[in-house]
Amino acid sequence: AAAPLENLGTIQRRKTRPVKVGNVTIGGGYPVVVQSMINEDTLDIDGAVAGIRRLHEIGCEIMRVTVPSMAHARALAEIRTKLQRTYVNVPLVADVHHNGMKIALEVAKHVDKVRINPGLYVFEKPKDDRTEYTQAEFDEIGDKIRETLKPLVLSLKEQGKAMRIGVNHGSLAERMLFTYGDTPQGMVESALEFIRICEELDFRNLVISLKASRVPVMIAAYQLMARRMDQLGMDYPLHLGVTEAGDGEYGRIKSTAGIATLLAQGIGDTIRVSLTEAPEKEIPVCYGILQALGLRKTMVEYVACPSCGRTLFNLEEVLHKVRSATAHLTGLDIAVMGCIVNGPGEMADADYGYVGKTPGVISLYRGKEEIKRVPEEDGVAELIALIKDDDRWVEP
Ligand code: SF4
Repeated sequence: AAAPLENLGTIQRRKTRPVKVGNVTIGGGYPVVVQSMINEDTLDIDGAVAGIRRLHEIGCEIMRVTVPSMAHARALAEIRTKLQRTYVNVPLVADVHHNGMKIALEVAKHVDKVRINPGLYVFEKPKDDRTEYTQAEFDEIGDKIRETLKPLVLSLKEQGKAMRIGVNHGSLAERMLFTYGDTPQGMVESALEFIRICEELDFRNLVISLKASRVPVMIAAYQLMARRMDQLGMDYPLHLGVTEAGDGEYGRIKSTAGIATLLAQGIGDTIRVSLTEAPEKEIPVCYGILQALGLRKTMVEYVACPSCGRTLFNLEEVLHKVRSATAHLTGLDIAVMGCIVNGPGEMADADYGYVGKTPGVISLYRGKEEIKRVPEEDGVAELIALIKDDDRWVEP
């Protein structure tokens, strides 16, 4: 159904159940949660603790660590203790792959959420003859999954912890590939199979992801999942991400294209931007996406014109100066405009405006009201003075 007119311009998020992961809640109308993954080896306890602390300080709200062996699982007990000793209470998520039942059970004691990959959960001998799975074969593997998943589900349930069912397009289970092909539908069915097993055991602290490195595949998988869950009366929160997005400008564009498209449709409760760069680089991209969509406001919103022949000062340079002086003031909207040709409305209701008036003269605005005209060389200092007069300034 079409959104009511009064809701236009605000994203209406899909209703999901709240899932507690340590002291953070995913879904249930809570702000979209930013997460990332350290790239230190979990066995390097001090390195992992330092990596987690570093990421947490810059805004990573849930931390994932990889747990490829039992020794890694045990190392997490020590990592958690060291973090707690220094009052770093960020929720930890263990990533368990490849037949990791025993590992998952051990690590569930030390973390707040366990992520499993349905495609790699039980070993399925590849079928060489490339014929379809019979229903009996399909069900037999389903039973094996149920049997191996049960102890983990019961343990997480008892401890009040969560699980992410994290399907990856690149590692779909053999029989899902045979039955549904390499498709978003196969990804969704794979997730649903695991969800149903959890529900049979009355465990619903679930978060679902369906990542792919191809953006259209990833978008289709999440859209289909949301639709299927709505049909089935399921309300699990979704964790969004584009896998193997690469690095640099295109890595950011690719991640944003996938994640923001879905968020704009109201789909998604937590996000991770996966870059082939230090994880610290992922966090600002996450917050940038959320801020641009109006889902979270964690920094100053700058409104700046692109400049043109009418521009009355060096816009790029001034924007840079204004940003350096004010970037620490969260919650403000500041406009920097080369001229006022189309009126203050062009400043998108910014709290303050820095606008070219005549050559060498700047007009400073509070909202739509022109407050004073100052020489260009004093523009930034006068803008700061105006913000201070309004008691909206804090020292950096
Ligand atoms: Fe050009 Fe003025 Fe528009 Fe900026 S605000 S792009 S300077 S017309």
